[in-house]
Amino acid sequence: MNRHARIEPGVLCLDCGMCCTGAVFTHLDLTGPDKDRLHGAGLGDAATQHRLDFPCRFLDGARCSIYASRPAVCASYRCKTLAQAQDGMIDLSEAKDRLHKVVELRRAFEAQIPPGMAIKDAIVVAAREPSTEWELPKNHLELKLAFVALQAIIDRYLRADGDGIVRQRGD
Ligand code: SF4
Ligand code: SF4
Repeated sequence: MNRHARIEPGVLCLDCGMCCTGAVFTHLDLTGPDKDRLHGAGLGDAATQHRLDFPCRFLDGARCSIYASRPAVCASYRCKTLAQAQDGMIDLSEAKDRLHKVVELRRAFEAQIPPGMAIKDAIVVAAREPSTEWELPKNHLELKLAFVALQAIIDRYLRADGDGIVRQRGD
């Protein structure tokens, strides 16, 4: 065992929450055991759904409000930085520094989102090219640049495959 192996996810995740915001994943599919757990926790309406769309309704600030009953794919997920910190490839201060930079760029992206637009819609809009078919916000270029910067740092520090695609958690 190396000297970093004792790092618990909470040391990093409790101040981050990035992987639940919609900037990294679009949604997750709920399994039967996930639904049973949600039902047992009194979350009957969530238990009847087949998926959780992101930003996750259970994200409270940077924290999961149903931590003990969260889907299995959430419990097992480790972003690149968490995995590298737990596996002793980087130290805790570097991991925290990385996550701080990611959160800063997420805030910069969110600052460009037009009022009333959900982050998942802003991601779709930011990824579009200007076209006469779509009504794009006036600040589309700024939104797109902020999105590209955010996805680049997510690829660098969070996404294991680093391909810039916002996809389902668990794929
Ligand atoms: S992005 Fe990484 S550090 Fe942040 S909450 Fe998710 S797993 Fe934890
Ligand atoms: S259930 Fe909790 S850990 Fe899973 S995506 Fe939602 S907020 Fe994140």
